[in-house]
Amino acid sequence: MAAYPPVSGKPVFRFAPSPNGRLHLGHALSALTNAALAQRFGGRLLLRIEDIDLGRCRPDYIDGILADLDWLGIRFEQPVRRQSEHFDDYAGALASLQKQGLVYPCFCSRQEIKTAVAAREGEVGGTWPVDPDGAPLYPGSCKRLDEARTAGRVAAGEPHVLRLDMMRAAALIGDGAGYELFDGEGRRRFVLAHPARWGDVVLARRDVPTSYHLAVVVDDALQGVTHVVRGKDLEAATDIHVVLQRLLGLPTPLYHFHELLIDEDGRKLAKSRSSQSLAELRARGFSAAAIRQRLGFA
Ligand code: GLU
Repeated sequence: MAAYPPVSGKPVFRFAPSPNGRLHLGHALSALTNAALAQRFGGRLLLRIEDIDLGRCRPDYIDGILADLDWLGIRFEQPVRRQSEHFDDYAGALASLQKQGLVYPCFCSRQEIKTAVAAREGEVGGTWPVDPDGAPLYPGSCKRLDEARTAGRVAAGEPHVLRLDMMRAAALIGDGAGYELFDGEGRRRFVLAHPARWGDVVLARRDVPTSYHLAVVVDDALQGVTHVVRGKDLEAATDIHVVLQRLLGLPTPLYHFHELLIDEDGRKLAKSRSSQSLAELRARGFSAAAIRQRLGFA
């Protein structure tokens, strides 16, 4: 991996959308919060397109994101980093984790995981734990496989994902790892990370050769990001990011998690539920000033 850029002395913020749909009000809130905090702290503002999932991301969505941000009046430094152009950087980070003996191949299908979880629930006589996103923790079936046989299956091209051995990773970095939260006044508060609650997360798949977690920590370091501002839905995932930063020898930025916008049904806005996009609001006659005002950035 290339060395990170020299510290300019200025704080560095970034907005990092995934181009798998049009931006909605929640993204506008995130981008505007980044812009406002960057301005308040005299920082730089970067844009990163998180398009590692080539099956779901589309070039026209990237054009849409750029147009929406321009319409909102937010200016980002050029050039814009596109993750799909940097798979080598993520492969380098993955290789480093593999060299540390922290990664193992997992051949389980979703159904096999479900079955294994049900079996473990039978054994323990209770419900199997879920991660902060509500998915059952990986029960570890492939962690216990014979190493030579596993290598043979990988060499034979059997489909698999690569998982982080979280227990081993957590033991390696030791107790007390965490990160600092910052608020709009620049106050900081240390938070302990609890990565074990995520279990053995996936770091790479066949169709997507890196994961969000791996790409985000590598890029934040390569781009010299000092202040990460994102929604509360990604707060818990920061525990994984801290572990990866420690294992890869990367700095841990400061973090700020903004509130999420809720729709009429009380659920957070999401592209997957076709929450009204900024493009639609614009077409209905809303001005950028009205959107900014509605989000508290008059
Ligand atoms: N790409 C992520 C998203 O669109 C955000 C990543 C981040 O801010 O760390 O939800």
